[in-house]
Amino acid sequence: MTTDVQGPERLATIKLIEATNPILRKRARDVGQSARPAAVIAAMREVLAAHQGAGLAAPQIGVDWRVFILADDQQPFVNPVIAERSAETDVQDEGCLSLPGIIVAVRRNLSVTVQAKGRRVQLRGMAARIAQHEIDHLDGVLITDRGVLLPDSGDAPRPEQQEKTI
Ligand SMILES: [Zn+2]
Repeated sequence: MTTDVQGPERLATIKLIEATNPILRKRARDVGQSARPAAVIAAMREVLAAHQGAGLAAPQIGVDWRVFILADDQQPFVNPVIAERSAETDVQDEGCLSLPGIIVAVRRNLSVTVQAKGRRVQLRGMAARIAQHEIDHLDGVLITDRGVLLPDSGDAPRPEQQEKTI
């Protein structure tokens, strides 16, 4: 689907991987001390901007590393863990760049504290939700594992079929 992507030619080789790619279903590896993730993070920013997403995890572009970014945040989260989470939760509809056309109602914590390399950040509301979604990606978890497909998902496959196709 490279024809969707506008912009520099290099975007043709850095793109979202297919929903069926097994990398979306495995736990990503920690980024090592000597690793230099800047190029990967730059590629992630390009893909995120091209798709006008709110967040992106490295496995979504085929990179087996524990890194995610938020569109509204300049710094990446490298080797992130959720250090604290609120007892309060809510349920909101979520989509995923890796699962086009699918909307799932997902229960998430209203606020989380994310500990990552060089930063510890408390996030609330939508930012907290997106961070939990992206950290799920790093653990091979997709929204279809977290909730139920809503009627307005149109012709998206039903949950029992989803299990086999993603
Ligand atoms: Zn996603």
